[in-house]
Amino acid sequence: MNKHMTEFEEVVLELPGEVDDEVAGDIEKESVFVSPGIERIRVNADHKTARIFVRPGASVDDVMGKARRYLDVMAKQLSGFEIKVFVETRRRDRGPYQADVNEGLVQRGWMHDYGKGQVAYSGPVLRLVKLINDRAGELYGKAFDAKDGHFPAMIDADTLHKCGYFDSHPNAVTFVGNIIEDIDALEEFRLANSCSEGAHMPPHDHVHIDGMCLNPAACFPCYPTLTGRTVDGEAYSWLGRVFRYESRNIRGLDRLYEFNVRELVFVGSEDYVRACRAKALPIVEELAAMVDIDCKVQTATDPFFATVSAAKKFWQAAQEVKNEIKIPALGADGEVKQLACGSINLHGNFFGKRFDIKGSDGEPAQTGCVGLGIERWVLACFTQHGFEPSRWPKDVAAKIFA
Ligand code: AMP
Ligand code: ZN
Repeated sequence: MNKHMTEFEEVVLELPGEVDDEVAGDIEKESVFVSPGIERIRVNADHKTARIFVRPGASVDDVMGKARRYLDVMAKQLSGFEIKVFVETRRRDRGPYQADVNEGLVQRGWMHDYGKGQVAYSGPVLRLVKLINDRAGELYGKAFDAKDGHFPAMIDADTLHKCGYFDSHPNAVTFVGNIIEDIDALEEFRLANSCSEGAHMPPHDHVHIDGMCLNPAACFPCYPTLTGRTVDGEAYSWLGRVFRYESRNIRGLDRLYEFNVRELVFVGSEDYVRACRAKALPIVEELAAMVDIDCKVQTATDPFFATVSAAKKFWQAAQEVKNEIKIPALGADGEVKQLACGSINLHGNFFGKRFDIKGSDGEPAQTGCVGLGIERWVLACFTQHGFEPSRWPKDVAAKIFA
């Protein structure tokens, strides 16, 4: 154990039951949101107990109450739901998976990591992003006659509320704050920063949050634009900028605060939406073949925040409304892990009802979406082919390493 770790008090708690790998992973990931007094929670190899790392100075009693409540809800999620695989592609490249891709991209000057879950990129990374994004847009245009669009990066809280986001992922929301319209508050802020070394933030009572948020799911801003309309089988596709507060979980291209999603939304009858979901599968296969990567599309559930997790996950798994594109990459420990690089979702008439969008029968329209996490595709591609152009498909290498 290194010195850093010995600063934390370690307490072992029993889980209410044994959990599978997926639930154990979710418990660890979401544990950063449980209490300011908890550094992290780790599930032990027995999958029946967990270690709570309590921060120095925190009240162990307070912290344990929260940890216990959190673990009780998280561990009651369904474990071992049957996973169905719909698509599986195999790469032709036989080279080993490349470790430390994030670091390698930074070293080559193709990526800059700002250290807070944001990255800048250029050269081969930018060209690969464009290639995947453009090709997906082209294929969606051909297969679904998808219309192009552009949507804002901010979204108002009422829309997010209507989308049910506060109910399912309250931990991931980012509110936009402004200094209050007050000459003294503005002057205080200006003076505090006029010759200071670092930035000084205004005191909390000088900031107001009026309900603008950063958009946390690519498809949300499209629904208000359809309000009051009758939509009989239409598809829309665009590149959306997405923000999710990931707290201390941020890491390179795998877990960003700000990332890009190539989104496809389909709206119409249930038959239309289900047919679109089926037609999306060979497109994912074609994209994976283009960049020559191992990839799977399989049933999945969302990592909902603890308090709502069990019921919603059960519903998602039972209805098979979420499929995920899983692409093998390497974790921080060097082990192969399945990176979620996109999702294919059916929403039923949820958005149709909430946003008053009707199908041709006058009933609330059905919707569905496909979101490709572009930065994760890039990470997966560089993991599976490394930095040497000769290992990449010839035409892709010619485009991105030019
Ligand atoms: P979701 O709507 O949750 O299915 O997310 C759509 C896709 O966005 C996921 O399949 C990931 O590929 C990508 N994604 C989600 N969260 C992050 C993140 N923090 N950093 C980078 N990509 C992400
Ligand atoms: Zn969506």
